[in-house]
Amino acid sequence: MLDEIKRNEIPTDFGSDLDDESDETENFGNQLAMVNDLKNRLNEIDIALNKIQSKDYGICEKCGKEIEEEILDTDPESRYCKICKLNEAH
Ligand SMILES: [Zn+2]
Repeated sequence: MLDEIKRNEIPTDFGSDLDDESDETENFGNQLAMVNDLKNRLNEIDIALNKIQSKDYGICEKCGKEIEEEILDTDPESRYCKICKLNEAH
């Protein structure tokens, strides 16, 4: 009984459908690339928004103090305050 069902599920006609299938695969690949592109863009926006909304922005990850404006001016990505940055350098 089970064997009979399995045998019926195996597609036997690969003939004339082959061209259509390869086209679909190509289209799918293009769509996937587009979706990935959009996802990447959304990701970048997300990261930027998170940074703005984040309470941790401008707070030193090491000592928890506010990062000096002069540091943020020159290095907005900085996660450490001036002192910790200096300590890190040694
Ligand atoms: Zn610090």
